[in-house]
Amino acid sequence: ESFTDMCLHSSIMKDIALHEYTRPTPIQAQAMPVALSGRDLLGCAETGSGKTAAFSIPMIQHCLAQPPICRGNGPLALVLAPTRELAQQIEKEVKAFSKSSESIKTVVVVGGTNMSEQKYELRAGVHIVVATPGRFIDHLQQGNTSLSRISFVVLDEADRMLDMGFEPQIREVMQNLPRKHQTLLFSATMPVEIETLAQEYLHIPVQIKV
Ligand code: AMP
Repeated sequence: ESFTDMCLHSSIMKDIALHEYTRPTPIQAQAMPVALSGRDLLGCAETGSGKTAAFSIPMIQHCLAQPPICRGNGPLALVLAPTRELAQQIEKEVKAFSKSSESIKTVVVVGGTNMSEQKYELRAGVHIVVATPGRFIDHLQQGNTSLSRISFVVLDEADRMLDMGFEPQIREVMQNLPRKHQTLLFSATMPVEIETLAQEYLHIPVQIKV
């Protein structure tokens, strides 16, 4: 499998070429066609496997296929990650792969940074939010963003999020999403808590292990 075979938008292909990624890593070769097909995914993969691009590229492709975002609209895609550093790293990669997809707007929402600046960005209307669970819920509760238009969700390093006590925040999000949405769950380990979460919130997921 090559990136060319994946029928990606030409603007995304341009950014992949800029990255000099000549071929997909094993997780990308397995996960991207599944994610692009619209199915739910349960991926067992570690950092360093190329999983960020494996979910970011299908997420950008998904957003490009949606109607335009207007001021005040809630996001179309949400990535939840355990730490500020990881969220910032993911946002950087999402921005890199959407550089040529000029309409796509991404914001990172993490703790320890200015809430009102994030609020302003969220309210302006964005496609993609990359967030830590606690801060994302704070913004939801303050009415700065909403789940009402989200149709693509990524739970990255889900095992670490559970270890850090974010299960209530994850459930709060997953239980209140619109009925029609796609979920990708990545975890380095598959303890029973992750299997339970997957059983509850993923719809007939394709399971991938690298
Ligand atoms: P990740 O597992 O997402 O943290 O990615 C690990 C590293 O692999 C990052 O530095 C990426 O830039 C790099 N990477 C991801 N996909 C590819 C690829 N297809 N070809 C070459 N490098 C890649």
